[in-house]
Amino acid sequence: MQETDRLILCKHCFARLSGIKDSSVSTEEREKSSSSLLFDRGLAGQISSGNSEACALCHGILDRIEDLCDAVIPQIGEREFDTFLVGCSLTPEQEDIENFLKDKLKFEPEKLKKELNRKLGVAFQNRTGKEVSFDDPDIIINFDFTYASFKIQVKPLYIFGIYRKLKRGVPQTRWIHRSGEDDSVEAQIGRCLNLLTMGEEFHLHGSGREDVDVRMLGNGREFVIESVDPRKRKINLDELQSAINTSDSISVSGLRYSSKKEVIRIKSSAFNKSYRAKVLSDSPIDSERLGNAALNLTGKDIYQRTPLRVTGSRSDLVRKRQVLSCQPESVSGNEAVLAIKAEAGTYIKELIHGDGGRTQPSLSSLYGEELKVLELDVIWIHRDGE
Ligand SMILES: [Zn+2]
Repeated sequence: MQETDRLILCKHCFARLSGIKDSSVSTEEREKSSSSLLFDRGLAGQISSGNSEACALCHGILDRIEDLCDAVIPQIGEREFDTFLVGCSLTPEQEDIENFLKDKLKFEPEKLKKELNRKLGVAFQNRTGKEVSFDDPDIIINFDFTYASFKIQVKPLYIFGIYRKLKRGVPQTRWIHRSGEDDSVEAQIGRCLNLLTMGEEFHLHGSGREDVDVRMLGNGREFVIESVDPRKRKINLDELQSAINTSDSISVSGLRYSSKKEVIRIKSSAFNKSYRAKVLSDSPIDSERLGNAALNLTGKDIYQRTPLRVTGSRSDLVRKRQVLSCQPESVSGNEAVLAIKAEAGTYIKELIHGDGGRTQPSLSSLYGEELKVLELDVIWIHRDGE
């Protein structure tokens, strides 16, 4: 701003120039203190106190805190929340004025943001009876001076659980361009959740994933489902579990309230897994030869180049993984069933068929004939670290 401009501030913004942050000192006393400070510094002609509407800094907002509450409360509508946080965004002009004042005074008075957030926070708390939370508020209310309007940010509701997938052909997450009824694990859980939360959208965060044609049995897979912009935050989790479990393709258990932090935990965890695989050969399977091949794999390091079927989405590299155990459970004609336990991140289908030599060694290479995977199930996720 120009040196010749005269800056008009409301009493609140003017009082802050005193540098007195003690809230027990009245606005009037701080205004007086600001006046003498400006006089001492030869700034009295440049900065003066005027009526609230003319305030170059807050535009009179600090005298209209209750009006702001009147404006924001209907915008929150029916949304349930226990905790909140208020904030504001200044215009570049407001930032310039604060910098100008800091330059002139040779110290930084309390910022408009701080006073507004404090006053609005107290007023909103009084009006709603809700608590301020700096760490993890249910809603964040932000006043934007540029548009003289509020933005409400609602924390998603996170629910943790464990799912089992009892049928093949069910994808874990929704397919973006898929039309019609979506029976993915995500959609089945998310739809039930949003019926209770009246949320806008949902996202499933799984602790890893199984292929669409692989069942997820045994102790199930951990997940966190996120309801976006929920109206209700206190829902009956037993009711949610029962609603989801009417499905004939998935079932869930252990539902509880969760957090974004837990999403990060489950996304980054990796566990050894046990599988059951039904395999097919072109000719009758030789039990002894298959037994030897399985024994050979047990405890062995294998090298897996990124499978062809996923090279589009993952970088092409070679991973070393260990097969912890492998044994045939039954052999019948051209088919056999095997139990396999492998380190986290092992591609089991490729471990069996070899992926055209990209997995070395494979059950097929050790057996000496190609073995196709007919069916695969995850039967246990070793979350206890065994
Ligand atoms: Zn002001």
